[in-house]
Amino acid sequence: MFKLLIIGNSSVGKTSFLFRYADDSFTPAFDTAGQERYRTITTAYYRGAMGFLLMYDITNEESFSSVQDWITQIKNYSWDYAQVILVGNKCDMEHERVVSTERGQQLASQLGVEFFETSAKENIQVKAVFERLVDIICDKMSDSLDTDAGGGGGGFGAGGSKGTVLTDASGAGGAGGKASCC
Ligand code: GDP
Ligand code: MG
Repeated sequence: MFKLLIIGNSSVGKTSFLFRYADDSFTPAFDTAGQERYRTITTAYYRGAMGFLLMYDITNEESFSSVQDWITQIKNYSWDYAQVILVGNKCDMEHERVVSTERGQQLASQLGVEFFETSAKENIQVKAVFERLVDIICDKMSDSLDTDAGGGGGGFGAGGSKGTVLTDASGAGGAGGKASCC
């Protein structure tokens, strides 16, 4: 069981993205009013998360500017080995695009993370992003196992009692992941 979180500003499409992945459905209007107040639950919410989809909306400049703040939150509240993918959602809305693909790519490489543009509405790259995140987590875990075998220790807590963080199922919500590779 992997705990993955989708984070990003309100209305970027997090709920829609999850519904598309989990249920293969899309509903044009989710009521998102007032979600911001839940920002205060971060510590419990982030605990044990192994991967993040950090989402912005390609038609919303502010959501893109906020990416750095979300990265800071991940650094402050989550586990050091958590993996991140930057996701520019709503790529079906080309005519309303304000954040170019190049800017998204540039920011991702600056942050040292991978980048995808997606559409929850048109089902573009949704499954691919989740699968890639799980792959990255698995790669990181096997690196960590190699390191442990060489006497390095730490990492994913592999090889013994240090692995408790992996089984921490407390905290709220989050997207379900699957991990057939490990
Ligand atoms: P959240 O606040 O991040 O959970 O965002 P929601 O999933 O509630 O989506 C906010 C609005 O954007 C809703 O009206 C969705 O229908 C719409 N939306 C979400 N994803 C997409 C997408 O990929 N393309 C388009 N065109 N609209 C989307
Ligand atoms: Mg939502």
